[in-house]
Amino acid sequence: MKLREYEGKRIFAEAGIPVPRGRLIRSVDELGDPAEFGDEVVLKAQVDVGGRGKAGGVVICPASEAKERAAELFGKTIKGLPVTEILIEEKLPIAHEYYCAVLVDRSTRQPVVLFTEAGGVEIEETARTAPDRIRRVQVPALMTALPSFAVRDLVGKGPKALGPVVAALYRTFLAKDALLAEINPLVVLEDGRAVAADAKVIVDDNALARQGIAQNRDLTEREREAEKHGFSYVELDGDVGVVGNGAGLTMATLDLLQHYGLRAANFLDVGGGADRERVAHAVRLLASSPGVRVIIVNLLGGITRCDEVAKGIVEAGVDQRIIVRMAGTNEAEGCALLQEHGYEMYGSMDAAVGAAAEARP
Ligand code: GDP
Ligand code: MN
Repeated sequence: MKLREYEGKRIFAEAGIPVPRGRLIRSVDELGDPAEFGDEVVLKAQVDVGGRGKAGGVVICPASEAKERAAELFGKTIKGLPVTEILIEEKLPIAHEYYCAVLVDRSTRQPVVLFTEAGGVEIEETARTAPDRIRRVQVPALMTALPSFAVRDLVGKGPKALGPVVAALYRTFLAKDALLAEINPLVVLEDGRAVAADAKVIVDDNALARQGIAQNRDLTEREREAEKHGFSYVELDGDVGVVGNGAGLTMATLDLLQHYGLRAANFLDVGGGADRERVAHAVRLLASSPGVRVIIVNLLGGITRCDEVAKGIVEAGVDQRIIVRMAGTNEAEGCALLQEHGYEMYGSMDAAVGAAAEARP
């Protein structure tokens, strides 16, 4: 789950990383006296997207204009997201903008720390055109702290104040079960202090309970519904809904769709022993996704009984075309029921997916 800038900065502050003085407001009325942050202030839209600076989500203005500019910002959408929270902060006298991030490198299965002198809003451009300017240090996953030689390699000839921030960012990354902890820009002020001017932290979804986060804000309504029923569910961008049981069979179904040039709308594993009710919930969930034109149900009857599956499909009673392939326990009873209700059935996965491909618009 992505944390917002103010949440990230709170975590940074607890870890000893200096952050600007600031306050979160949810309406102009909460602004109080902006002059408490100095003659000039920064207003930052707390929306869950990057590149706010370039999209007009970061406003620097005299404190005397803060009210007016905050009202404007509250009325805006940044990259499609309405602004409901603004972080008002002191404007920092920035001498230089650096970039520092700790993330999981999936290919080596290790944390990697990135650092560059070329921080700021052009970081993506730098990564593309001058990747050599970004220094990288791999950290063996069992290290509980970044060794000081690694910090020196990263910071290079940069100001001394940067080192402790880099070390603290690494500790925070571990302590918060983060997949990413990024400071861009990590600024050095005219007086030599280092401050995190921005904060981006992504917490591993599997660690939310341990981190005391009750609900994953990033889930779509359907993903939340799926979680409630205990389905393994991931939304994709195709138009063929898939219900399977077991991760292997469901993945194989997605592979087969790909083979036939079809695009899956989702991955949904209903799990073992799915009864009538679970199957009905799963089918309805997919049917409620915009853009799903056909649903393939591919289930293997073991503990799961095909007659229960059939009842679930009938009970769901959705409008979309449904293609069923099921085999195993109580197969004959299940197939008889589906046939009675006029459902389309196939004896193999290949035939089922092939049928969906034939009728492609
Ligand atoms: P992002 O575009 O969503 O990553 O938003 P940032 O928080 O990184 O802000 C974008 C840019 O605004 C930064 O790179 C800075 O150049 C500028 N900025 C942000 N806060 C301050 C500040 O306190 N003082 C000054 N002078 N510039 C700031
Ligand atoms: Mn930034």
